[in-house]
Amino acid sequence: MINVKLLKETTQVPGAPGFEYRIRNFIKQNVKELVDNVRIDAMGNLIAFRKGKSDKKLLISAHMDEISFVVTHIDEDGYIKFKTLGGFDPKTLTAQRVFIHGKEDIIGVMGTKPIHIMTPEERKKIPQIDDYYIDTGLDKKEVELLVEIGNPITRERSFIEMGGMVNSKSLDNRICCYQMIETLNQLKDKELPMDVYAVFTVQEEIGLRGATAVASGVNPDYVINLDVTLACDVPGSMPHERITDLGKGAAIKVLDGATVCDYRMVSFMKEVANKNSIPFQLEVLPKGGTDTAGLQRHANGGSVAGGISIPCRYLHQVIEMASKKDLEGGINLLSECILEIGTYNWAHK
Ligand SMILES: [Zn+2]
Repeated sequence: MINVKLLKETTQVPGAPGFEYRIRNFIKQNVKELVDNVRIDAMGNLIAFRKGKSDKKLLISAHMDEISFVVTHIDEDGYIKFKTLGGFDPKTLTAQRVFIHGKEDIIGVMGTKPIHIMTPEERKKIPQIDDYYIDTGLDKKEVELLVEIGNPITRERSFIEMGGMVNSKSLDNRICCYQMIETLNQLKDKELPMDVYAVFTVQEEIGLRGATAVASGVNPDYVINLDVTLACDVPGSMPHERITDLGKGAAIKVLDGATVCDYRMVSFMKEVANKNSIPFQLEVLPKGGTDTAGLQRHANGGSVAGGISIPCRYLHQVIEMASKKDLEGGINLLSECILEIGTYNWAHK
């Protein structure tokens, strides 16, 4: 059963890349009783550790940052200009509410020039990021008492359940942060085959930055990274373009734009899923990358790396949607992989 209350809270706590302190504290409170110890590395990655039977190291990970913005300028009328932290499709910013995290959290709305006063040429153009500003309803003086250049901005959108689905901002990647917390919970009284480092990474959305730092810090033998993947099971996409479908199970990553997963890790995960009757899909994502890439290549000499992905519609929009069934399967698959990783034959073909 999914703990919907915890999942919901995990999506709502702000954590812009480089400003993850609030979500990190929230996760720390929720994992500290489940592991031997918790520490934060110099870059801000949260590392929850459990001692296992052998000294081999398994690193499991999920990034805790979310795509966000940062204040660059406050104009004469108090309107705020910003820069993006992470990849946005500009059209998804239309008519959105945001939180500016200054001295306190203040709400703002993203505006652009109204259609009524656009020239015919302007009407034909797709809006660009630079066309947007944030309106807080406050004048310049009032804004400047609360906000300064460099303050992070995150999106405002509540979490809801829709049938067997959940819908919220930041399911990328808070759904996998939840998956990792719940897995640690399931395993808390079980003996683990090797040392497990459960890492909640920083700054994934701006280039896998936390992951590369923690890979060299921990130097794992094995890596299982958790992130969301595209579900293009929607009108207008061809069968070969779907990547994954909601409700058909968590996905075992074969490759993405930045990583070819270790073929042994892929076979291991498939074997574990089949043995435990956990439904799964295979993920071949032609573009885009996840922390798997940083963790595979920045361990000393590389690591045996793979990923479990939760299928998600409308990625990087405030209405991301995922299936509770896929999430449950993802938790079970991760738990079983952790328990069985020590007995698999890792010899090369
Ligand atoms: Zn992600």
